[in-house]
Amino acid sequence: MKKDDLIQVTIEDMSAEGAGIGKMDGFPLFIKDAVIGDTVEAKVMKLKKNYGFARLVNVLSPSPDRVEPLCPQARRCGGCQIQEMSYPAQARFKENKIFSNLQRIGGYEPAVLEAAREPFLAMENPWRYRNKAQFPVGLSKDGRVIAGFYAGRTHSIIESSQCFLGKECNEEILRILLDWMEEFHIPPYREETGKGLVRHILIRCGFSSGQIMVCLVLNGERLPHAEELVSRLTKLPGMTSICLNVNRQRTNVILGQTVLPLWGQTWIEDSIGEIRYRISPLSFYQVNPVQTRRLYEKALEYAALTGSETVWDLYCGIGTISLFLARNARQVCGVEIIPAAIQDARQNAALNGITNAAFFVGRAEEVLPEQYAKGDARADVIVVDPPRKGCEESLLNTIARMCPERVVYVSCDSATLARDLKYLRERGYELRKWCGVDQFPMTAHVETVALLSHKSPDSVINEKITAETENHI
Ligand code: SAH
Repeated sequence: MKKDDLIQVTIEDMSAEGAGIGKMDGFPLFIKDAVIGDTVEAKVMKLKKNYGFARLVNVLSPSPDRVEPLCPQARRCGGCQIQEMSYPAQARFKENKIFSNLQRIGGYEPAVLEAAREPFLAMENPWRYRNKAQFPVGLSKDGRVIAGFYAGRTHSIIESSQCFLGKECNEEILRILLDWMEEFHIPPYREETGKGLVRHILIRCGFSSGQIMVCLVLNGERLPHAEELVSRLTKLPGMTSICLNVNRQRTNVILGQTVLPLWGQTWIEDSIGEIRYRISPLSFYQVNPVQTRRLYEKALEYAALTGSETVWDLYCGIGTISLFLARNARQVCGVEIIPAAIQDARQNAALNGITNAAFFVGRAEEVLPEQYAKGDARADVIVVDPPRKGCEESLLNTIARMCPERVVYVSCDSATLARDLKYLRERGYELRKWCGVDQFPMTAHVETVALLSHKSPDSVINEKITAETENHI
């Protein structure tokens, strides 16, 4: 096999990024937009030592799970990866991925995994779930102002104002903005030259509050003809915040650090369950509030709080899980590496009148061991929600030594979850329950919540008794 060869292959698996994987004599090829079960014709693009990439040319025999994507741009856009796969098949694939990682990397027996498995939480309606949209703004080849999305792995803008993962109102907001830019000759930013003004349009919607924020990311601090734009945008129901974000850097980072008000507040509010959150353009906030609520409720259920517990919430972000748990605990301590997120966490605690949550800025793997060494940290329940790379061993070691009754692990990467659970199992923590949650339909990502508890003192005693009895025999 060599570059540019046309091959025929059946797709057997899917990569973490959502590409189909087919094997030619055992040699895996990644083929974007191919679905498990398809037989495809593909052109070899790049060959590495142990794997290669091919481009889908033709679907020769479609998988029973293949569907027509809803979005006409699905193949070109970098946002969705698996729209060609039916939603029930996506959910099945995601749950199987967690299962096989826990088995292969975590070393769990299938029977243990089956016994602990809880039904996968798929979305009832897997569309229009995102509360945040970021559209790059630019010029078309014929000189019109356009907004859209980046083609996968590039910075060329594909014109599109409709995304089926975002709210319907985004389309109207974009139309108002683009018309206004044309009418008043407001120049879009040009990445090649670093000139021009409007770089991105950020839209956030509070799903339960109905509030809308529009934030224009500018290569500057002043927006000409702003009054006209404001008068058009404020006609939309729910408009609560119109603001500017200043980003003069020549980078791919979308947002700069400065936020300036244009109209209304520089934030919106939303709630998940009973907790209200204040969200500014720079705040981290989960993008799928419907599934986030289900994820946090599952974490709360697994934490099984009665009101008397001390809980640590590691990697707490803006305190979303901490505040969710605080009502049912004696004390919650959150740890997060980003200082601005901790500021938000404290503000959100105050907004909700929650006084039993304390927040620490720092690395979880440094803060917890330090507090533990000082004798200041004990825990009945520890919740972790790390980024994809999972937890540092030093943190897991401290958790095991603190010996909380329950550990609730919220994970966005089941491979590192499985690695970390193996470590904890070797220190006495058993997997009691686990549950997959689909936070990002149409992408290959999947979240998992797992409940661990150490062997109950009873079972340890029983084992000891059994061992002693055996010695006697
Ligand atoms: N639990 C939060 C955020 C989870 S995302 C929520 O549900 O909204 C993971 C968080 O871990 C991010 O906010 C990231 O900034 C933080 N983080 C990354 N590495 C960290 C570390 N070593 N110690 C503490 N926090 C870290």
